[in-house]
Amino acid sequence: MATINLDNNYDIKIVHNIGELPKNAFDINKLKIFNILSTNQITFKIDFSNISSKQYKKILKQLLRIKSFLIKMKKQIGQQEKDKKIICYVINYDKNNTLQNDFILGINAIFFNTRYERYNYIYDTVCKYLDSFFYGKNLCDFKNNQCGEKRSANSNSYVGCCHHYKIKLLGPLIPNNLIPCEHLKENHTCGAICIGCKLFTCDYLEKQGVKFRIKDILLLDAFFNPLQKYFIKTMVFTPKEKIIKRLMIL
Ligand code: SF4
Ligand code: SF4
Repeated sequence: MATINLDNNYDIKIVHNIGELPKNAFDINKLKIFNILSTNQITFKIDFSNISSKQYKKILKQLLRIKSFLIKMKKQIGQQEKDKKIICYVINYDKNNTLQNDFILGINAIFFNTRYERYNYIYDTVCKYLDSFFYGKNLCDFKNNQCGEKRSANSNSYVGCCHHYKIKLLGPLIPNNLIPCEHLKENHTCGAICIGCKLFTCDYLEKQGVKFRIKDILLLDAFFNPLQKYFIKTMVFTPKEKIIKRLMIL
């Protein structure tokens, strides 16, 4: 039986016949706290042919609530197999289906031990996704160290969008007020791992159809409340540690 390895020593088993699904596994799509009250050890099952991607966010939120409840009630999550715990069985899973894989990442996020660990995992996973989206494509169309947006605006700027006003309140009203971001390294990479900056797309990119919306990124959409989403989007020029610290208190 093929396996998907999750963090924290959890595994998901992939099955191909309905008969291979354990009878006592709970259907993730019909999960209610009431149904699991009398069970001491819980495993889940997912039939991807029975759920649509529109339901993923709702199911993940419910699973997170149930997991917290199981921990409070000291119930055993997953079935021990050697040094791993089988937490879930999946059927009709397509390993090339991006939406299904995003859903699996969501399950992985849920079974971290603390909220901080979960946020850290989500943050890193989304940043990796955003980086890989740009990797090797030169979507910003840098030529002679100047990006497409700045060239089309006939600007003298060579720092892409990694710059801000020194005196914020006066913005463009005073000359030479624009300075490079303090996290911009000499090799033009970012030393801050700032998710807000990575989500940013200027007019130039949007004209090419590149735009990131939090509601289109399942990990961000399912696990953060509206205020947290606002800060994820707007805390630009900010290091990762500071952003996660803010998310923890919201
Ligand atoms: S996002 Fe836009 S402004 Fe920023 S570097 Fe790319 S093209 Fe330039
Ligand atoms: S924090 Fe943002 S603006 Fe600063 S270097 Fe990193 S990506 Fe650029």
